[in-house]
Amino acid sequence: MTADTMARTDWAEVNARLSGSHPREVLRWAVETFYPRLTMATAFGPEGCAIIQMLSEIEPGVRVFNLDTGYQFPETLELRDRIAERYGIEVELLRPDTTVAEYEAMNGGPLYRVNSDQCCHDRKIVQLRRAVVGYDAWISSIRADQSAHRAKASLVGWDAKFNLVKINPLLTWSHRDVWAYVVANKVPYNPLHDQGYPSIGCWPCTRAVGAEEDERAGRWAGQAKTECGLHSLDSSQL
Ligand code: SF4
Repeated sequence: MTADTMARTDWAEVNARLSGSHPREVLRWAVETFYPRLTMATAFGPEGCAIIQMLSEIEPGVRVFNLDTGYQFPETLELRDRIAERYGIEVELLRPDTTVAEYEAMNGGPLYRVNSDQCCHDRKIVQLRRAVVGYDAWISSIRADQSAHRAKASLVGWDAKFNLVKINPLLTWSHRDVWAYVVANKVPYNPLHDQGYPSIGCWPCTRAVGAEEDERAGRWAGQAKTECGLHSLDSSQL
């Protein structure tokens, strides 16, 4: 299938067929349809780790990558190594062209303090655009109940922003479903989750949250920003 064909494909029938399926079945469909031109991005949240565990049983050859901004927590990078040891899946760390020191020197200091959108663009989006070149589809770990914005996503759809099909196998799972799976399958997870961090990104833009707060309240706290731009939807994905 060419990119043009995929862009014009009506994914409604596929979504209807996969609706109600276990994420493992959605992944199996994705592998049968797109592999080896199938890739996955992960920030090593429990969702991503659960998907990696499923992929290790379906097709461990799927290329998985992480956008390593230079601002990740040490615990996140250590989790990458534990995943590799456990499942034999070496998540590729994709880094920007500049180190954090170079980037901050270029911008007169940390840009995340004054222009987090630009920082996310430079440290993440540019790398994602490069990472998906040559692939037909990518897997993400978003859940519909994480935000009103994410609730508009579909299991499978054309991602016009990055020009390939996007698959969201965990879309209909809840926070509880994910953790039940992680615990039942002894999937490695970030120890910061046990210290009040339900959602973990870069350390400057992540804080612990209280028991009553939304699980993503600790991301870009104090800003209107809720997404780094990887999962922004356009009309073709609704
Ligand atoms: S999450 Fe924060 S530190 Fe990370 S790329 Fe975005 S603005 Fe920069």
